[in-house]
Amino acid sequence: MSKVLIIGAGGVGGVVAHKCAMNKDTFTEILLASRTVAKCDRIAAEIQEMHGVKISTAALDADEVAQTVALIEKFQPKLVINVALPYQDLAIMDACLETGVHYLDTANYEPIDEAKFEYKWQWAYKERFEKAGLMALLGCGFDPGVTGIFTAYAAKHHFDELHYLDIVDCNAGDHGKAFATNFNPEINIREITQPGRYWENGEWVEIPAMSIHKPIAYPNIGERESYVLYHEELESLTKNFPTLKRARFWMTFGQAYITHLEVLQNVGMTSIEPINYQGVEIVPLQFLKAVLPPPESLGENYEGQTSIGCQIKGVKDGKDKSYYVYNNCDHAACYREVRSQAVSYTTGVPAMIGAKLMLEGKWMRPGVFNVEEFDPDPFMEMLNAHGLPWTELVDAELPHEYP
Ligand code: NDP
Repeated sequence: MSKVLIIGAGGVGGVVAHKCAMNKDTFTEILLASRTVAKCDRIAAEIQEMHGVKISTAALDADEVAQTVALIEKFQPKLVINVALPYQDLAIMDACLETGVHYLDTANYEPIDEAKFEYKWQWAYKERFEKAGLMALLGCGFDPGVTGIFTAYAAKHHFDELHYLDIVDCNAGDHGKAFATNFNPEINIREITQPGRYWENGEWVEIPAMSIHKPIAYPNIGERESYVLYHEELESLTKNFPTLKRARFWMTFGQAYITHLEVLQNVGMTSIEPINYQGVEIVPLQFLKAVLPPPESLGENYEGQTSIGCQIKGVKDGKDKSYYVYNNCDHAACYREVRSQAVSYTTGVPAMIGAKLMLEGKWMRPGVFNVEEFDPDPFMEMLNAHGLPWTELVDAELPHEYP
C-alpha cells in the first residue's frame, strides 16, 4: 500500500524495520536510513534472512534538513518513522513539511546542549502541519505511547473521570553486563539524572532525582524498588485528561545500576558540559556513550521480562473505581522474533502499529497529535495481534496511597 522511510538504525530502528517487513501488505517498500549505513545493512541482511523481505538502506545525517529532503524526494515515502534521537525531531519534521510527508516519532524533542524535554517545540508545528494537510504523531513507543493509549482506553471504557494515574515501568531482565542502558545511553542518563517531577492538584511538584521510591509488586515478577521520575507523557496526559488530580511515573532500578550511576555522576562522566581533552572538545556523557554497550547489542542472552502498565483510580457511575492495565514482555522471546531485547521491542512495535493505523487511514487527521487523542480501540486490538498482548484488572487493589 505505502512506502515508508525509517530513520535511525539502533535498537528501536531494528525492531521497526523487522515489524514493518513482517507487515508487507501495509509497508510495501521500506527504506532504512541512518548515520552509520553499515548498521542499516546489518539489519537489512537479518530481515532478508529471517522474513525473506528485501529492504533498502541509505546513509543519512538527519540533522541536515537538506539531506533528508533529498532522500525523501528520491524515495517518495508516504510516511517517515523517526527513531533516531530526540535531537533530530525538529529537523525531520521540517523535512516532512517541505516534502509533504506524514511524520511519526517515539520521543519528544530535546536540545542537545540542555537536558530538557518538552512538547512545546513540536506542538508549535500544529498549524503548519494542519495547513499542509499532514499528520505528525508524537511519542508512539511504549512510554510514551502505549501508556497514553492505555489511559485513553481506561477513560473510554472504564471511567467517567480519571483522578489518579500511576504509570509503572519495570525491567526485571538480566543482560549479564555490569552496566548498560536499554535504550540510547546518552538520552537515558539525561532522563534519569534530572530532577523528578509529578503532577498534583493542578501543578508540577519537583523533587530531587530518585528521591521518592518504594517497592511495587509487578505481575509474574514480584516486588522491585521503583522510583518516581519525570517522563514526557505526563505533560500531554495531564493536558488531555484535565480531571487528573495526580499523575506520576515510576521506574525500577537495581542497586548495582544506581551505584554505577552515582559513581559516574560523582566523577563527572554524566556531564553534558564540553571539556577540553588533549586539544579536542568532548562531552563527557557522549564519551561515556561511546564506551557503553549499544542497546542493540544486549538482546542475545538477555533473560527475564519487562512489565509496563497504568494504574488508575477514578469514578464510574458515581462510584470509586480502580483499574490496572499492563503488558509483560519477555526479552528472550523478542530476540527469537526480531533479534532485539524487550525495551527496543516494546518501543518499535507500537511505532509500527501507529504507522499502520495512519497509512490505513484509521488514525489520519492533519495536525500534530499525541496518541491519546485518537480512538484507542484499534490500537489495543493490534497490540494483541502484533506481539504486545495486554491484561486488565478491574477493581484491583493498587499499591499507592490516595488522599
Ligand atoms: P540507539 O542509540 O540504539 O539508536 C539511535 C540511532 O539513531 C542510531 O542508529 C544512530 O546512528 C541514529 N542517529 C543518531 N543521530 C543521527 C543523525 N543525526 N542522523 C541519522 N541517524 C542518527 O537508540 P534507540 O534505538 O535505543 O532509541 C531510538 C529512539 O527511541 C530514541 O529517540 C529514544 O529516546 C526512543 N525511545 C523511546 C521509547 C519509548 O517507549 N517511547 C523507549 C526507548 C527509546 P549511529 O549508529 O551512527 O549512532
